[in-house]
Amino acid sequence: MIWKRIATNRNSFNTTHRYYESMPYSFTYDLTKLPREFFKDLAKLVDKRNLHRKLSGFLELSVRKFGVDKLLGIQLEDAISIVEDLVDLQIKNLVHEEDYKKAKVKILFVPHCCRKYMDWRCKAEFDPDLSSFFCNHCSPDCFANHATELAEASGYTVFILPGGSCIKKIFELIKCDAVSGIACPEEIKLGISVAESQGLAVRGIPLTKNGCAVVTFNLESLKEALT
Ligand code: SF4
Repeated sequence: MIWKRIATNRNSFNTTHRYYESMPYSFTYDLTKLPREFFKDLAKLVDKRNLHRKLSGFLELSVRKFGVDKLLGIQLEDAISIVEDLVDLQIKNLVHEEDYKKAKVKILFVPHCCRKYMDWRCKAEFDPDLSSFFCNHCSPDCFANHATELAEASGYTVFILPGGSCIKKIFELIKCDAVSGIACPEEIKLGISVAESQGLAVRGIPLTKNGCAVVTFNLESLKEALT
């Protein structure tokens, strides 16, 4: 490994609640109600037809046509907002695809709210220098555990983050060529702009279900993203 995780002065996870941040969207969603290929196909279509300049109207039409707001049970403007962010994300993933595949040293950011437990039952260690949790694999059915095991098996180092503001600190201390992040689309967009400012290749994996606790993502999507 070119770099090492800094592992000094680890504190108990229950001292870290001050790092927690509120979720960016003011509403909750569950994307498992939509066909998995929907956003990918939409992004490819937008890219192929160079529709970026007309995106707003085009996406609104798509949301109305597919009844995304009704499927998700949220307001039309919120559905448009999610779809716009997801399409932006897929386009970014496509733009960075080649550089990402060539990158040698990769890291993965996982949101702390996909841990099975958000209290003392989670046995992850917290590293205050990196503002990150590191999973100790106490629960086989924990999403943070799944993400950690999958990513580490592919050579990634995994940071479980209490919030997006920790990213800059990690980039100051850790050298890498590419970064993947699991988060809600709005937060991934912010993370991508930080990673791009560092010249890194990026790949985003959107949460399929957001909220303040026990959020979920698609494990197959993560597997694909990590390759
Ligand atoms: S499996 Fe890891 S992240 Fe999940 S609850 Fe246990 S220590 Fe925490």
